[in-house]
Parts: sequence; C-alpha cells; structure tokens
Amino acid sequence: MIVMKFGGTSVGSAKAISEVAAIVKMYKKRKPVVVVSAVSGVTDTLIRLAHAAAEGGGADIFQSLHGRHADILQDLKLSPSLCAKQFGELEALMKLTRRKKGKLTKKSLDLFQSFGERLSSTIVAGQLAKIGVPSRAYPAWELGMITNAVFGDAEPLPSSFALMKKKITALKTVPVMTGFIGKTEKGEIVTLGRGGSDYTAAIVGAALKAEAIQIWKEVDGFMTTDPRIVPEAKVVHELAFEEACELAYFGAKVLHPKTILPAMEAGVPVQILNTFKPEGKGTTIVSSFEERHGKSKTVEAFSRKKGITVIHVRSPEFFDGSGLMANVFKIFEKYRTSIDLIATSVVSISLTIDDCENLDGIVHDLSSLGEVKVVSGKAIICMVGGSINAAGVAGRIFTVLGQHEIPVEMISQAAGGVSMTFVVDENDTERALHILHETFIGR
Ligand code: ASP
Ligand code: MG
Repeated sequence: MIVMKFGGTSVGSAKAISEVAAIVKMYKKRKPVVVVSAVSGVTDTLIRLAHAAAEGGGADIFQSLHGRHADILQDLKLSPSLCAKQFGELEALMKLTRRKKGKLTKKSLDLFQSFGERLSSTIVAGQLAKIGVPSRAYPAWELGMITNAVFGDAEPLPSSFALMKKKITALKTVPVMTGFIGKTEKGEIVTLGRGGSDYTAAIVGAALKAEAIQIWKEVDGFMTTDPRIVPEAKVVHELAFEEACELAYFGAKVLHPKTILPAMEAGVPVQILNTFKPEGKGTTIVSSFEERHGKSKTVEAFSRKKGITVIHVRSPEFFDGSGLMANVFKIFEKYRTSIDLIATSVVSISLTIDDCENLDGIVHDLSSLGEVKVVSGKAIICMVGGSINAAGVAGRIFTVLGQHEIPVEMISQAAGGVSMTFVVDENDTERALHILHETFIGR
C-alpha cells in the first residue's frame, strides 16, 4: 500500500482537485490511502470564523466559505448538496458559539478547524468516484486515529497504530481520509497542530508499514539550493532524513521534518512530489543516513539562513576550563534562546542565534563571564551530502569562496559527516550560493 497526501494548494481549486483525482487513479494498483489537507486558506478562515462567532458575528465568513466550496463543486460538476451535512453542522456550531458569547475554548477552536479537512476529503472522494475510482471519504477517527486530549497539538495513542492498520486494510475502496484531525477516546475532535496533515500521512504510513508515503505539493521537492537565487538549481532525488532536517532548519521550506518522524522510525520512505508536474521524480527521503553515506554525491544540496547574530565571549578564565562552557549554556537556556552554531578556542567561545528577543539580557549575563562582542548581519550556509566529510571537500569549499574574497567564519562539520555549516556576511550570501552551486552541482 502507499499513502498519498495532498496539501492545501493541491486541493485548492476544482482544477487542482481533478488533477489530484487523476494522479490517484494512476496509482490505483498500488492500493493508495489518500490523505488530504483543507482547501488552501480554509483552516485560517475557520479560525477567523470561530473568533467572529464568539463575538456574536461570523455570518459573512461562513457565507464566503460556503461559496468557495460551492464553486469548486460546481466547477467539478459534482452535486451541490455533497457538502450540505458538513455546512449544516458548521452553521449550528457557529450559532451555538454565538450564544455562548466570548467563551472560545481550545476545544471548540479545534472543532471549527476540523471542518476544513472534512469538506475537502468529501469533495476529493466525490471526484474520484466520478472518474471511476470507487472511493469514500472518512474522518480520520473512523479509520482509527484516536489521540490524547491535547487540543491544538494532539498525538495519536500508541494503540491507534494497530487499529488503523486493521481498519484500513479491511477497506475495499480507496479511502480519502482527513489529515490534521482525530478524536480522543471520549469522542472529542482534536487537531494535531498546524500543518498536521503531513503528520497524519506519516502516522498512517507507519501504521500500515506502507511501501512509501507520497507528499504531493506545489514544489518539485528539495532543491540543490534556493531556485529563486540560483535559477540553475535542480531537484535532489534522494536525501537522508538527517540531511533534510539540516536543510529545513537552515531555510529550505519544503517540509517540516518533525512531521515525518513516525515514517522515518518505521523505515518508510517519504517522497515529495509535485501535483502540477506529476511526471517529475521528486525527492525521496530515506531514514538511514549510513545507507547513503559514501554512495551519493559529495555535496548534494545547501541552504542558508539570514538574520544571524554572532556572539563572542572572551575570557582568560576559560583557560582552566572550570565550567565556563556550562555557564554559557545555562544563560541561553535561561532566556530560552537556541544556539545554532558554536566555535571554541582555549580562551573564547562564539555562538550564533537567530532570535534576538532576549539579546540584552543574554549579553548582560554573559558579561559576568568575560568580554562580550555582538555582531549582527550574518548568515549561515549549510551544506549536505553523503560524503561531505571526504578528504579535500572542505578545502575546495573554502578555497573557492576565498578566491572570490568571501570571508568565512565559525566552520562546523558534524563528526558523522552529515553537514558542513559556516557563517558568512549576510551581504555575501547570494554570491556564495552561486559560487558553491557552480563548483559542486554545475549548470
Ligand atoms: N489544514 C491544516 C493547516 O492548514 C493542516 C494542513 O494543511 O496540513 O494547518
Ligand atoms: Mg495547510
């Protein structure tokens, strides 16, 4: 079996939905389980509707939501009453919320949001049936997605994995299930957190030990670098999970790696594919870095994060190593500010942060340990590849940047060889990406 997840843009219009149905039909032999997001923008609209209802209004928002879905149904030539049940329930919820005025709980906010996926799954299943693929829409809980009661950020119960497997494998037609939502044991509807449909797909894929999980989006996959800066950027066909984490953390906005963790733990590969270019190969994310190590290209891809601040702490007292490093970390922990890169020498430590909200406090506290210098306007470049730690790779990276007079600092290479990360001046970022791309990836 395969899990096919379609994001908000992929179900964002009648045209996109008919594309989606055609793609699912193409994969019919591989027993697809379809997971969908809400129509793009609808979750945000439902949140606005909830707040407006709590303040006694919301009718206009309700009408526009209704209109948006009715238009899609009409353009697809599906029955206008296909979503009547969901809209009836949503309207009742809106009226009830109005009566309770002012009391919008996390629980009712989740209930409002659940309608996005309940509507989109109904439409996608309707379109599939129309083109001859027997199909039915299911709210995820009907297929075993039972969660804890953390509204807004729920997690599936361990027992729900076996339940999902049992329920889904027993189905005779293609299920189109809601991403993002589930139910508690008490029967209350919850959400898994924003962007949670990828998470649903990963959970279902893990539960089924699926052959693969396909995440269909509006991008081609992970790219060698940001194509808006380097137009020659190409799709990276395979990445290890750890590499995807590094790229995403340092700026690649393809997917939140955390959401696919259940798939990685179960050893199920995750493919990123483009709904609007279904013939593309996309990017496959595999769980094992070791497997890729040495096999793939030296440098596979790189990303960057701007708005970085470097903090240097110098103190001769570092010399006797009496716990100063630990004290430095405690200060960052106190201000809940995470450190991205660290470089040390005997008498100093340099760190980078991207969140300067508590910079004054951090500097004040660090000053008790030594002399502090803050430099802003920096960027981090992160490079990954199956053998980025091979002899000579670091040499080539810094030689070529040096030839173009781009100074580099705070070089950090993970010991396992997953990435090479360093800091450049923010103004040099674009130039550095071009040079590195030309050197390691080519045109
Ligand atoms: N519709 C939800 C959201 O917008 C979940 C998702 O799209 O993944 O956050
Ligand atoms: Mg979304």
